[in-house]
Amino acid sequence: MRAAVYHGPGDLRVEQIPKPEARPGGALLEVSYCGLCGTDIKTYRRGHHMFTPPCVLGHEVVGRIVEMKDPSPSVSVNEGDLVAVAPYVPCFVCPLCARDRHELCRHKEWIDGGFAEYVSVPAGVLEKGAFRVPDGLDLRVAALAEPLACCLNAVTDSHVRMGDTVLIIGAGPMGLLMLESCRAAGATRLLVSESDECRRAQAERRGAWAVDPGQTDIAAWIKDATCSSGADVVFVCVGAADAVDQAMAAAGPGGVVNVFGGLPGGAMISVDARRVHYDEVTVTGSFGFAPEHFRTALAMLAAGRVDVDGIITHEFSLDDATRAFETAATGKCLKAIIRVGEDG
Ligand SMILES: [Zn+2]
Ligand SMILES: [Zn+2]
Repeated sequence: MRAAVYHGPGDLRVEQIPKPEARPGGALLEVSYCGLCGTDIKTYRRGHHMFTPPCVLGHEVVGRIVEMKDPSPSVSVNEGDLVAVAPYVPCFVCPLCARDRHELCRHKEWIDGGFAEYVSVPAGVLEKGAFRVPDGLDLRVAALAEPLACCLNAVTDSHVRMGDTVLIIGAGPMGLLMLESCRAAGATRLLVSESDECRRAQAERRGAWAVDPGQTDIAAWIKDATCSSGADVVFVCVGAADAVDQAMAAAGPGGVVNVFGGLPGGAMISVDARRVHYDEVTVTGSFGFAPEHFRTALAMLAAGRVDVDGIITHEFSLDDATRAFETAATGKCLKAIIRVGEDG
């Protein structure tokens, strides 16, 4: 089968590799679409501790189940179904899972990389992480279930409440999905700091008040916008440590700063300890999701509860995967998606 194989930073080749087989209790998925995620792009640019080349990247996968091998009776999808598949499921039994920290489970079961014609879906993922795409939902939109699930996990972790003022630093695809997630959670005031004009326009179209941090003193702006009370929750949706400093300055008493964007190794932040103590500002982070977030994300997309118009800006065929990575790595697009199979 054809697959886009990652051979190391800056080296992605579309080549023939052996077609995987359905494992006992699992399934074989014919991939329709796979979204390009910030993690894929970071890996392509500078490598990633989670991916050892050669390997196939891609974890925002939608496709058709073409074979199932003795599935458990509790599997809710059937052969022939179009499904959105979570890239992993937790073990549900380890101490972290027992504390409901499923996204931190160290014994996750993973699917193969999605930039390939076929993906082997192991038994646990088939049972707990594969969901039928609701009728009428565009498969490209269904592929946003994974990034949206990451945002829902962060919104839950950071306790966004009805009436909250939320600041989002960075309005890339994740920042925009975070904005939609916060609005769905009931946040009333949505503030966005973003240097790119097109991305600011996307945020404003979604009802946010967006400013350019190069032109605006963010701390003074937040003070003004919140009558000096500060933001209830700040999401740092860029991979820059200095943005965390801005977030700390913007958070009000009792506020939460969520470091959501992945940072390179060695990135350090400094925190004013008095703000943590006297103002009870919480600094946290979020990474990944639990199957329940994925299910909810797909349902929200199907119900039109999140506005994803304009988030996917580029579509490439699998043969054009290298160009897709190059385009995404330059930051010239919001979200790119790769069309792999016939159903797309
Ligand atoms: Zn992703
Ligand atoms: Zn676990």
